[in-house]
Amino acid sequence: MNKKICIIGGGPAGIATAFQLKRSGFDPIIFEKGNVGGLVVNANLIENYPGFLNGISGIDFVEILKKTVEKYKLDIRYENVINVNYKNKIFKVETNKKKYEFNILIVASGTIPEHLMALEKKYPEEIFYNVQELFKYKSKKIAIIGSGDVAFDYALNLSKKNEIYILNRGTDTKCLPLLFERVMKNKKIHYFKNAEINVNSKKFIEIENNGNRQGLDIDFILCAIGRKQNLGFLKNISKEKRQEFMKNQRLFFVGDVKNDIFRQLSIAVGDGIKTAMFIRKLYGDKE
Ligand SMILES: Cc1cc2nc3c(=O)[nH]c(=O)nc-3n(C[C@H](O)[C@H](O)[C@H](O)COP(=O)(O)OP(=O)(O)OC[C@H]3O[C@@H](n4cnc5c(N)ncnc54)[C@H](O)[C@@H]3O)c2cc1C
Repeated sequence: MNKKICIIGGGPAGIATAFQLKRSGFDPIIFEKGNVGGLVVNANLIENYPGFLNGISGIDFVEILKKTVEKYKLDIRYENVINVNYKNKIFKVETNKKKYEFNILIVASGTIPEHLMALEKKYPEEIFYNVQELFKYKSKKIAIIGSGDVAFDYALNLSKKNEIYILNRGTDTKCLPLLFERVMKNKKIHYFKNAEINVNSKKFIEIENNGNRQGLDIDFILCAIGRKQNLGFLKNISKEKRQEFMKNQRLFFVGDVKNDIFRQLSIAVGDGIKTAMFIRKLYGDKE
């Protein structure tokens, strides 16, 4: 059946879905609002993706994804999907440039960061949510707020050129023990627990660390306090309707956008391959 298939997101999940569909003769259109590769470009070292004995950096992994796009001649449109409607069994997808119609919609739009509004108000120029934007700096003092894998991974990455302060607002860390150990051994990373930034302080940053106030002279703040599903463009399709379309096998979610706390590369890629195989089973190889 000659189904028109749309994939929203050109991260690992979207690319995996697209190339597996292409292998079955389908020709999906992928919309990507930023760069091919999505979030994984931020990873310092990916060590849990089978096939790379010594691990691989996020940047190198994205280069492979880009070559995959070229090899399979995937149809990527660098457009931002802003709205989706559904009428008469057709998804009407509106991007910042054009309107399109599709029979099948695959959402691989990943996640967006949680924001710290109080800090954003106080430090509008100095606060960041995306580590990539800080790669160009060196010899800076950067505070990272968070206590999970991402915060610790950011710290290891940025410490190659900068002095890092990890600020954990609690006492426990949520990161892998091996990341914690690496951070503790790194002389350019300073770790503070029970560290709360005092937004009312006149100093640039004052943290309360175990009851003691301490001023920190910081250039930038990087927030890594969690991420949430990126689904704003589906605002006109109710949750009930989404369930119905999923049941009717017209709407699919793949990768981080649906994986809750299990946001990992291999799972996102696996989701994509499985979804593409499922679509082939439903609609057959295209003639
Ligand atoms: C610092 C860091 C380190 C990590 N390290 C590891 C690791 O070591 N091992 C591991 O397994 N995983 C790791 N991960 C997680 C991994 O990056 C994610 O699981 C993976 O990128 C998820 O892929 P995805 O395609 O589902 O989503 P994403 O990578 O988030 O891709 C979603 C894509 O959709 C695009 N998009 C979103 N909305 C729209 C729209 N409206 N229109 C058009 N395009 C849109 C985005 O621009 C993006 O390119 C790490 C993540 C981070 C942040």
